[in-house]
Amino acid sequence: METLHQLLWRHGQFLGQEWTWWSAVGWLGNLIFTTRFFVQWYYTEKRKQVVVPESFWWLSLTGSLMLLAYAIFSPHSLVFIVSYAFAWIPYMRNIVIHRRHALAQLACPSCSAVCPPRAKYCSACGTRLASAPLPG
Ligand SMILES: [Zn+2]
Repeated sequence: METLHQLLWRHGQFLGQEWTWWSAVGWLGNLIFTTRFFVQWYYTEKRKQVVVPESFWWLSLTGSLMLLAYAIFSPHSLVFIVSYAFAWIPYMRNIVIHRRHALAQLACPSCSAVCPPRAKYCSACGTRLASAPLPG
């Protein structure tokens, strides 16, 4: 039976890997990229509905850019580089949409409740919201 020390240290190297600056970036990128699933799961369980928080996209963007850097600066195949080369596009787009949605939310002048964009009345107190056109 192997000890924990034997499992972690193989051939005199941690995890049997040759450690370089770029392999550390790759492993850290992998960790950050994987963390996003737990963050998304946490928010989904908390809200009791499927939620993709803005932090999910930041973790996706950061992790994939670190993995892309690792793929470019390490002796790896083009397949690995291509798989991360364009991943940042939907991540950035989702971050922009999250930000725009947050900025478009309306604050109720009476009770300060945060109301959805284009809401006509405050859902908390019923006050008419400023952006809504007057009736008639
Ligand atoms: Zn209100």
